Amino acid sequence: MKFLKPALVALIMLAGLSTKSVLAAPGAPLEQDSIRKLFGQVMKVMEAMHAPLQFSQSQLDELAENAQSLIDPKTKKPFRARHGEPLIYYVIDPVGSCSMDIKRTVLFMGGIHPDEVSPLYTSFHALYMLLENPYARPENTRVIYIPLANPEGLIESGTRLKVTTRENSEGKDLNRGFEESDKKTMPEVAFVKALIAKYNPSHIVTLHAPYGWLDYDGPAKLPHAPADVKKEVEEWETQVSRAGAKPLPVAKDFGSYRGSMGNYGGYRLHKHVLTIEYPSTEGRKAEEEWRDYGGSLIQSLNPPMHNEPTPPMAYDVSGQSLHLRASMPGR
Ligand SMILES: [Zn+2]
Repeated sequence: MKFLKPALVALIMLAGLSTKSVLAAPGAPLEQDSIRKLFGQVMKVMEAMHAPLQFSQSQLDELAENAQSLIDPKTKKPFRARHGEPLIYYVIDPVGSCSMDIKRTVLFMGGIHPDEVSPLYTSFHALYMLLENPYARPENTRVIYIPLANPEGLIESGTRLKVTTRENSEGKDLNRGFEESDKKTMPEVAFVKALIAKYNPSHIVTLHAPYGWLDYDGPAKLPHAPADVKKEVEEWETQVSRAGAKPLPVAKDFGSYRGSMGNYGGYRLHKHVLTIEYPSTEGRKAEEEWRDYGGSLIQSLNPPMHNEPTPPMAYDVSGQSLHLRASMPGR
């Protein structure tokens, strides 16, 4: 598997080697007005949080035009947050690829904790880089990209309270809600789960702060995981760790929280889940952390895959005592 060289990523980040490309056609009709409004609000709040996004109007238009909504099969309407903010995602394919060339799917989930402002800044800038620069996209891979999984925590709190919140407007920490099915108070979680069901990613990447490390959850951690699967995951961690301008250490046995994506995606669904933790949540650190660790995020979307994906049921989790964390703050 090709390893994007840090120098190349840095070059792309700085110079913006621009080659327009066609993305997969949007799957669901989208109310462009509400998407444009969303981006306008995001820009305002990020500026107030001391992390102004560096997008021109035409770049915002491009972001809005390529966004997709997902139709809830039950209601036949697009998934939205409680107060109507659109829940958006992107389908990013290699340039000129046909469906035969897509060998795997990687899902990225950013912005589930909008009080973590610095990683959110990277979430938007990495998205724009992938849309704009085919060189940044992983080979043979479809990327399903959610830049802002919790728009309420950013926009409503940011506008009203002048501070962004970890929770949505219902006071729910969404990254503890993946093992519940309360669609009324956590439509955002229902949206992410529906995307996973639709696209069946083998790997999931999430972005948080402030631990400053990489943390893997999933099949490779189970006691009977095949050695080659463990090795493949270690290789992924090493590549991601080294791909930024500064290295991110790999956490050892941090465990996962009940209801988090790590626990749900990793141990219920048997996906390989990598959590990238930035050292800082601060908006003032956002530009610096994007330069330091943006390469790691881009590289994380390109996991090595020497093996065919192992069918999930090959892993026996019965009787496993997973290392769950209950009460530590953060992430
Ligand atoms: Zn977090």
